[in-house]
Amino acid sequence: MARRQGPPLYGARYCVNISPSKKEVHDLDNETAQCQIDEIIAAGHAKPYHTLAEAHNDGYDNCHWCIGGSTR
Ligand SMILES: [Zn+2]
Repeated sequence: MARRQGPPLYGARYCVNISPSKKEVHDLDNETAQCQIDEIIAAGHAKPYHTLAEAHNDGYDNCHWCIGGSTR
């Protein structure tokens, strides 16, 4: 699996799940099956980020599988 070039991610490295019950950021260069990125996109919950710092600033927590170091 890899970065998604088309909408809604347009090749961005990071994808967040905007679902209020998730609020997680994924690293698509290190994606695992457990990330369920395609499911996030299908649900309309995917939003692209180019840096991890930006995602953290917006309140997203690290995905346990592709980034690790979750703070909750
Ligand atoms: Zn992930």
